[in-house]
Amino acid sequence: ATSTAAPGGVTATHCPYCALQCGMGLTTGPGGDVEVVERAGFPVNKGALCGKGRTAPAVLSSRVRLTEPLVRSHATGRLTPATWEEALDRIADGLSRTRTEHGADACGVFGGGGLTNEKAYALGKFARVALGTSQIDYNGRFCMSSAAAAGQRAFGLDRGLPFPLADIPRTGCVILVGSNLAETMPPALRYLTELRENGGTLIVVDPRRTRTAEQADLHLAPRPGTDLALALGLLHLIVAEGRTDDAFIEERTSGWEEARAAAMAHWPEHVERITGVPVPQLRDAVRLFCGADAAMVLTARGPEQQSKGTDTVGAWINLCLATGRAGRPLSGYGCLTGQGNGQGGREHGQKADQLPGYRKLTDPAARAHVAGVWGVDPDALPGPGRSAYELLDALGGDIKSLLLMGSNPVVSAPRAAHVEERIRSLDFLAVADVVLSETAQLADVVLPVTQWAEETGTVTNLEGRVLLRRRAVSAPAGVRSDLDVLHGLAARLGHAKGFPTEPEEVFEELRRASAGGPADYSGISYERLREDDGEGVFWPCPADTEGNAGVEGNADAEGADDGVRRGTPRLFLDRFATEDGRARFVPVVHRDAAEEPDAEYPVILTTGRVLAQYQSGAQTRRVDELNSAAPGPFVELHPRLAARLGVEEDDPVAVVSRRGRAVAPARVTSAIRADTVFMPFHWPGEGRANTLTHPALDPVSRMPEFKVCAVRVERVERV
Ligand code: SF4
Repeated sequence: ATSTAAPGGVTATHCPYCALQCGMGLTTGPGGDVEVVERAGFPVNKGALCGKGRTAPAVLSSRVRLTEPLVRSHATGRLTPATWEEALDRIADGLSRTRTEHGADACGVFGGGGLTNEKAYALGKFARVALGTSQIDYNGRFCMSSAAAAGQRAFGLDRGLPFPLADIPRTGCVILVGSNLAETMPPALRYLTELRENGGTLIVVDPRRTRTAEQADLHLAPRPGTDLALALGLLHLIVAEGRTDDAFIEERTSGWEEARAAAMAHWPEHVERITGVPVPQLRDAVRLFCGADAAMVLTARGPEQQSKGTDTVGAWINLCLATGRAGRPLSGYGCLTGQGNGQGGREHGQKADQLPGYRKLTDPAARAHVAGVWGVDPDALPGPGRSAYELLDALGGDIKSLLLMGSNPVVSAPRAAHVEERIRSLDFLAVADVVLSETAQLADVVLPVTQWAEETGTVTNLEGRVLLRRRAVSAPAGVRSDLDVLHGLAARLGHAKGFPTEPEEVFEELRRASAGGPADYSGISYERLREDDGEGVFWPCPADTEGNAGVEGNADAEGADDGVRRGTPRLFLDRFATEDGRARFVPVVHRDAAEEPDAEYPVILTTGRVLAQYQSGAQTRRVDELNSAAPGPFVELHPRLAARLGVEEDDPVAVVSRRGRAVAPARVTSAIRADTVFMPFHWPGEGRANTLTHPALDPVSRMPEFKVCAVRVERVERV
């Protein structure tokens, strides 16, 4: 890769990985290699990067980078190099044949939370207009969908954080639920460190004593799958101790009596039995949270990736509402979205039930508006399709052909062996990726595409901050952008117009499609994003009002002192986004996980990430430095469980669930509960954690139960 900046110049851009979207500069070093330089002026990370971001250029010039299309040979069954024309023709033929023989809904499309806003938008339009299928969803469903559903239900709108990260150090107390920021997004840890330096307190809820939990004033370690009961127990105590904010409840919420009654049915002693968290710790948490003038609850995948994830997040939101900690400066509930464009990726139409601008696909007005922008008949737009796991489960059944971009479900989907078997049963699979991922290896056609620094596009970080990721290096010969791919396929399917290849042109259409919707980008343009100093613009930013800087509390946010230009850093300060402007309490009650431990499978498995790897590892496993730091999976287990099994550090152990078996070395640590084992999920093969996970779905968000299932652990004899 070669820098596109002038000699000695630096291009300001953003990391390809997580939702923090750290700012970085790219330049060409003395040896001609692309180098990362600090971009201290970007307010989110102030120059700091984790090892993944620092080493990201290695993926640009990786030895295993795909640089030519591959087509499976009918003669040998092997993937062999082909021209772009051959590859695109083959995909168009495969999809067309399926559509003719089985109908448009037999074609599936699967996207990713790492795709730029422009790609997510174009992919949704491609599915619904060029293919005419309703069967599109994306891997972001596995990321933050429970928090999104709970936010919609309570506030009428989901934006991961409804306030800038810069507000965190200025609040009084943060409850961080199921997030290991120290490993997943280390530069964000400074917000929590500054919080404590300023006299605030940090409560971490996690079954493991993680590096993040080690920094907490109070660490609550509930049994996996019981965060909902924990939140209800805290709310019970808050009510019993008279710590509710009755004026706020009266003026700004609805539904309190039902939610209150549900919480009062969860006595603290009962909650202690369910969660394993002692009542005195519950009381300490209430004292810290309610004793502060302002407070926040932040959740991540721990409470969200459960078959009751929406209700679990809802319980934490109820806690905020009952204490007046929402819709006020320096207080509120927020979700720490995971994937790079997890936020924007869910707003612009690659989700099964949504149209651009975060509009509902079932809303006639939304359909009419977007169909108008697309120049199609609203009645011709398909309705909602299946959610991600349901779509993958239908492969080879109702769905015969699949186009997949920016995802690797063979590693990242729950019940992964079954998903892999479903993928293998397809009539036709096309994958666009930068490397030959485990899913791409199963494809009939593989398209080599450009990646982050080789293309311009917008992403929306976990704060709802829309950022311009600038092209900083030239792409290798032989690769094309995802937008080129969609253009080429649409043309072959009879839609020569309507699929531009220039990101800015796509964004201009996205602005029109999002105008008036919940995620309104119409006041944001490339020109505006280029003009400013790269700090981005928070949505909603309607064209006619240029954001709501006029709302009190939005003008003084960091990076928002010129509020008009920054859109809306803080939401809900004057009203929530519901019809009556009130936040809605939702009564929720504890229920068991889909699979509780029993005599045969007596231990709980929970999964997560490690510092040096990212998601399915498709990129980070190809970076030598990261691979050396985190070369493979492991099973974290408590010394008592290890002793019972006769297992010592590094001994191979098998973790067995009703869905399969995974083998990895033991890591013995008292940082985990004795009834629980932990596995990171970044690797394929024998140590694939998702072989074990349970696909039970949340009834509202359709989120699978990644974070809790029943397993047994067995010692494996070394051979
Ligand atoms: Fe990239 Fe996230 Fe690391 Fe920042 S924290 S450098 S965005 S992976």
